[in-house]
Amino acid sequence: MYYLLPFRFHVMQGKELLINDLGDFLLVPRGSVERIVNREIDTDGDLYKDLLASFFISEQPLPRLIDTMAVRLATRKAFLDHFTALHIFVLTLRCNQNCIYCQASSKENHCSGYDMDETNLFRAIDLMFCSPSPALTMEFQGGEPTLVPDLIRKAIEYAETRNQEQKRHMTYVICTNCVNLTDDLLNICKQYDVVISTSLDGPQFLHDRNRGKTDSYNRVITGIEKARAVLGENHVSALMTTSEYSLNFPTEIIDAYRGNGFHSIFIRALNPYGLASCNADWIMYYKKFIVFYKQALEYIIEINKTGEVFVEEFATLILRKILTPFPIGFVDLQSPSGIVNGVAVYNYDGYVYASDESRMLAESQDYTFRLGHVTDKYEDLFYGRKVQQISRIWATECIAGCADCAFQSICGADPVRNYSTQGDMYGFRPGSMFCYKHKMIIEYLFQLLTERTEEVLPIFKSWITGTRG
Ligand code: SF4
Repeated sequence: MYYLLPFRFHVMQGKELLINDLGDFLLVPRGSVERIVNREIDTDGDLYKDLLASFFISEQPLPRLIDTMAVRLATRKAFLDHFTALHIFVLTLRCNQNCIYCQASSKENHCSGYDMDETNLFRAIDLMFCSPSPALTMEFQGGEPTLVPDLIRKAIEYAETRNQEQKRHMTYVICTNCVNLTDDLLNICKQYDVVISTSLDGPQFLHDRNRGKTDSYNRVITGIEKARAVLGENHVSALMTTSEYSLNFPTEIIDAYRGNGFHSIFIRALNPYGLASCNADWIMYYKKFIVFYKQALEYIIEINKTGEVFVEEFATLILRKILTPFPIGFVDLQSPSGIVNGVAVYNYDGYVYASDESRMLAESQDYTFRLGHVTDKYEDLFYGRKVQQISRIWATECIAGCADCAFQSICGADPVRNYSTQGDMYGFRPGSMFCYKHKMIIEYLFQLLTERTEEVLPIFKSWITGTRG
């Protein structure tokens, strides 16, 4: 006689993949779940021992290792312990580029009225220090934040002054297209250990096409090299966004990253915000994106097999959730959701939003996820009625579809994405492209882990640990 512990399953390649809340998984023959539930598993067999060891069944009504299980679950949710750590400051909405997929609804460089007021900036920083998190990341975004270098300097100096008594671990990040990195700005970065996060979409023909300029690639590469020379290689990272055109060039994109001295890539799909929402056929886009992602990952695995370490960051985040007991600080893969719990956004006009995507919605006059203004009290903004309303549906554990999904403990909830793509925060998983993308990629990684274990596991472990396999 044995007792069932909570788990879910997914049918994959004619087998059943069992996953529990602690993240343990087992790939078992088709029909095993029915036998497990009907108490038909032979207690002398290997499957019984595996089920017992991986917390799928218990020999007592209350498992002997219930405390161990509790600690493991708490560890997986440890990102909740300290609340909001990432604070995004949209210093200006102005930009000096013209990207075809711009998700921030940026304004022309010469426009006025789109820079953050200094008083609001300091109020926003005060609000950030109300967060209990011992580690705080200030991320400067836009538009293009390097168009307002004075605001960057004043923001960091004010935060440093406040931090003399606060003693938080501060990280500063500037998200920039790198075309306007002046010596003065890089000196500020050097002084305060600022990380540069830029965008590189791939080879020149592709990057320039995505940016709507003919000289963007050369200027970005020049900026990356200049930043590396001053700040060091590990202080410059790049993100790519997969436009529809990019979908045709997985290997070329990866080779462009390698050729420019990067050792990793974060393969990102387009999000349906801002200009990107004009994209005509999202279903077709995401289907093609999954094909593109698999081609890119296969190519990256082949590169790693030659001894060169090159990491795909999105896969690494998922693999960390599959193969380690630790949480990750990535908004899309958290439950309860990363919005508010992990990230807050202070917009150029002083309004506070639940996430970066929330303020992008606001640029199309939709203020659903506006928490308030920097003049409001911290408690009203972060524990107020709006956040309470969102919190009812921000956990995979309690929304239809996710509650029964085998990938629940790996995936995340995103009420903002549900709202923007499906018209309500709750969302409908069978029609959700967010769900489709995550399900396909998570299943693919499990497929690799279980069918090509010896080939991929050393590579994946080296990505997770940051060491060579
Ligand atoms: S979004 Fe989809 S893949 Fe993710 S937990 Fe929910 S149902 Fe599963």
